[in-house]
Amino acid sequence: MEKRDIYDRFKGVIYGQAVGDALGLGTEFMTDEDIAWKYPDGLRHYSQILQDSHRSRWKIGDWTDDTDMMLCIADAVIEDGGVDFRNVAKHFKKWANGIPMGIGINTHHVLTADEYEEKPFEVSEMVWKISKCQSAANGGVMRTSVVGLFPQAVAVCAENICKLTHYDPRCVGSCLIVSELIHALVYGRQIPSVPAILDMAKKYDPRISEYVMMAWQEEDVNRLMNDDCMGYTLLTLSVALWAFWHAESFEDGLLKVVNAGGDADTNAATACAILGAKFGYSAIPEEYVEGLIYREQLDNVIEKLADICIPQIGHQTVGE
Ligand SMILES: [Mg+2]
Repeated sequence: MEKRDIYDRFKGVIYGQAVGDALGLGTEFMTDEDIAWKYPDGLRHYSQILQDSHRSRWKIGDWTDDTDMMLCIADAVIEDGGVDFRNVAKHFKKWANGIPMGIGINTHHVLTADEYEEKPFEVSEMVWKISKCQSAANGGVMRTSVVGLFPQAVAVCAENICKLTHYDPRCVGSCLIVSELIHALVYGRQIPSVPAILDMAKKYDPRISEYVMMAWQEEDVNRLMNDDCMGYTLLTLSVALWAFWHAESFEDGLLKVVNAGGDADTNAATACAILGAKFGYSAIPEEYVEGLIYREQLDNVIEKLADICIPQIGHQTVGE
């Protein structure tokens, strides 16, 4: 793979995530009927996003908690020039202590516990056990794309960074699959086949396989949606894999996932990070990039992260 391509895919992951998150906010928590009512021709542009009480808390073209937390991971890695899970936890905590718009319930419980900074893994495990090991929300998988950009140790980092807030093996398995897939796409490694993904899934939890198979077999993303388990990590994993296997382009996947509703910002953030890895930054239509109001922040992070993860390429020498 050309070095230029690696950088384009690398950048595509971060931008893809942010674009999916920002447009997905427009249909977050909406059912099909709701979307048909409020966006009769479908949601295509940030400018169309309905300004109701939920959505008007964000400016048009802002992303939500999914990308905020992904950037917490990126910032910690940039600070350390590597990965230190405790510093990632510190960045999560600092974000939660600010105005963590859109924070999920599980993440809130974990990050606001008194001892979180000293014992993040223990606190996270305890909160999961209090849920009787039932809680398996998509708060880990929504931010794991950036881990796929790490030059090595992707599996161990995906597992542990997930466990900093989401201890359930379904969450951990979801993160591993998404991060490994992104890593393979960005760095030109062998793309995991369906059986290889099923093998990864089996190592964590037998319940993951069904959602992988649904994504592979189902042509229509709407048929994956289930309002009864909105926010479930395996549903988000399934939608993301669906986009990888079935979307014809970045825009095709973005619009289909966003207009399927449900936990649309998280589903689209995860799906579009993978699509960014598959098709590259250059395949993201300009209007989605230019409409992001904090895109300078993304450029800054991408530049610094690329210097750490792909120093042999260096941002300065690419695309010029
Ligand atoms: Mg969100």
